[in-house]
Amino acid sequence: MRIYYDLEFYDSGRVIDLISIGMVADDGRELYAISAELPYTALQEHAFLREHVAPHLPVRLTEADGWECWDFQHQDMSKVLYQSQMREAVSKFVADTPHPELFAYFGAYDHVGLAQIFGPMAELPKHVPMYTNDLMTEARRLGRPKLPDQQGIVHHALYDARWNKEIGDFLTQYEAELNRPTLDLLVELASGEWLRSSGDQSWEAKAANLMVRAKNLLLEAA
Ligand SMILES: [Mg+2]
Repeated sequence: MRIYYDLEFYDSGRVIDLISIGMVADDGRELYAISAELPYTALQEHAFLREHVAPHLPVRLTEADGWECWDFQHQDMSKVLYQSQMREAVSKFVADTPHPELFAYFGAYDHVGLAQIFGPMAELPKHVPMYTNDLMTEARRLGRPKLPDQQGIVHHALYDARWNKEIGDFLTQYEAELNRPTLDLLVELASGEWLRSSGDQSWEAKAANLMVRAKNLLLEAA
């Protein structure tokens, strides 16, 4: 089962510093957690984080013009977890997912940030996949169809994870549509329908007909 996830993080160029994580599984379960060890200075000084990420977090601007205070009235205050708690929550979420597959959007940095919740690479629990599938790789494999636009809140890890699921569902559907002619042909073949479908033709003629259709499908796919 697929788990779509997204991280908000500060990237110093050397270190990926976790801010928050959102996860959405194909069965509808969701997880949202915010790091209790927020990189305050980065939230304050990094223009993008300050403008786009910090407003969604349970922190408030102080008179000193910094994000150094927790906003205890904020609805997401209960989502703030220490690393050990976050490790437990993420581990359980993945463990509760049969045959988990991780998916993210431009997910290379997200995978590192996710793995670092558990410490160094070697400490990743056995049940947590060692790689993240990238929705961009999927989109490219399928010929780069136009992806659905993200509606509503952005740069909030849970909302972004939900949008990743929308992209994943879209691509799955898109691939099914692409494969439909091939599948129809295979079903026809398996059911023996092709033998009956062309009237009085010899079976050699019917087989030749089928080969032409299969060849056309291959040419279309190329
Ligand atoms: Mg995001």
